[in-house]
Amino acid sequence: MASTPEDIRKAALPTDGQGCHAGKDEMLRAAKAAGKSETLDQYAQDYPAGPHDQPQSMCPAFGSLRVGLRMRRTATVLSGSACCVYGLTFTSHFYGARRTVGYVPFNSETLVTGKLFEDIREAVMALADPALYDAIVVTNLCVPTASGVPLQLLPKQINGVRIIGIDVPGFGVPTHAEAKDVLAGAMLRYARAEVEQGPVQAPRGGRSERPTVTLVGEMFPADPVGIGRMLEPLGLAAGPVVPTREWRELYAALDGAVVAAIHPFYTAALREFDTAGRPIVGSAPVGYDGTAAWLDAIGRTCNVPQAKVDAAKNSILPAIRAALDATPIRGRITMSGYEGSELLVARLLVESGADVRYVGTACARTPWSEPDREWLEAKGVRVQYRASLEQDLAAMVEHRPDLAIGTTPVVQKAKAQAIPALYFTNLISARPLMGPAGAGSLAQVVNAAMASKHRFDDMRSFFEGVGTGHTTGIWESLPKPREDFKERYRKQVAKQAAMRKTEEPI
Ligand code: SF4
Repeated sequence: MASTPEDIRKAALPTDGQGCHAGKDEMLRAAKAAGKSETLDQYAQDYPAGPHDQPQSMCPAFGSLRVGLRMRRTATVLSGSACCVYGLTFTSHFYGARRTVGYVPFNSETLVTGKLFEDIREAVMALADPALYDAIVVTNLCVPTASGVPLQLLPKQINGVRIIGIDVPGFGVPTHAEAKDVLAGAMLRYARAEVEQGPVQAPRGGRSERPTVTLVGEMFPADPVGIGRMLEPLGLAAGPVVPTREWRELYAALDGAVVAAIHPFYTAALREFDTAGRPIVGSAPVGYDGTAAWLDAIGRTCNVPQAKVDAAKNSILPAIRAALDATPIRGRITMSGYEGSELLVARLLVESGADVRYVGTACARTPWSEPDREWLEAKGVRVQYRASLEQDLAAMVEHRPDLAIGTTPVVQKAKAQAIPALYFTNLISARPLMGPAGAGSLAQVVNAAMASKHRFDDMRSFFEGVGTGHTTGIWESLPKPREDFKERYRKQVAKQAAMRKTEEPI
């Protein structure tokens, strides 16, 4: 049963502006009371949390925002606190969005009276020009989700422009990777219903003559091309990549003979493929073993005769072996990230000869990364799903790697300890990984980083003795920590809090 607007206001507003993930339980309670139970329960099932509540990563909504911004003829509208929208649009333009992000602002009055929903509907009506758009994506951020702004009541289409309303709160969707899945899943669900109702638009380049393999997961642009070459001898072709770049590609994606869950966290999207009767294959064609196993799995699923699969393997595997042997990686590596492709990269590093001890991923464990987890663990690599920053750092301290690949805070800590480090998102995941092209691509950047160890040592010895923490810098007399001051303030703050509590109306 929905709470009164006043209940919602009380629950949602005090948390607005306290920063991300503050008051998570209260926000969740408010959102559920405001009619979002079904959505949030589905998220809890699709994106299980734990061992801790939330990986330390960016605002999840950035994932779905970026997916929408990269699609042709698609408008995106955000509904959320101005500070959140500022941060999200700033980041999207930093990453080269070159698109307008729509925003429907609110204040406490429009939020609690239901006027915000009317404003959103008006904005969508004004925007829905079929000459410009195939779809409009409207996203509820934390506060409108907690307040139950009912995007599900928006018209399904206006003048032929599809309207997709999604809730992407930080208290319900753990990572930006999984937020991509929220939007991809919602679009596939819509497109699947269209397919069921009758004929739909063909892909821009026409339908493939061969059965296709739909590829799930954002990847380096050369990878789908490389995968297409590997599939040719099997009589198959690479299909669209999901998230797609255009609405009509969704139909072609649903039309694939098989779906390759290259990135394993697309739970909602894969559910749509499953409902459409499409078989799903996990892992990806990375390295020698990975490519061999993946081609076998695809061949098996598509009933390709084994002789043909073996011929395909014989034509590609020697080139992968040659690329791996030509560019070996020697050194100990710990790795972590929040893109969802961490296990694939780790496989490639191990096959290149690296001594990988730990792989942390912010994403949850799913059936589609099981082959990678099993392979890595058989090689002695510890795999940590839903890894926290603390776990990533502890692994670095324990293994003292020659190279730490990780998120920004991991890289920062590593460099402070004179351990060469690379940022996963910008330097590792933005490279080809599949087939022979992927086999050699990591070695150059990884080996160059490991070779820079002496520079860190030089820097460390140069700055030796300048102090750390509160004594950082050159001092005539070192600043002394004054625990007595801090203790006094702590007591004062606690006293004030206790007084406020006694003054609260019962
Ligand atoms: S919408 Fe994103 S930035 Fe805003 S409070 Fe939620 S998680 Fe934080």
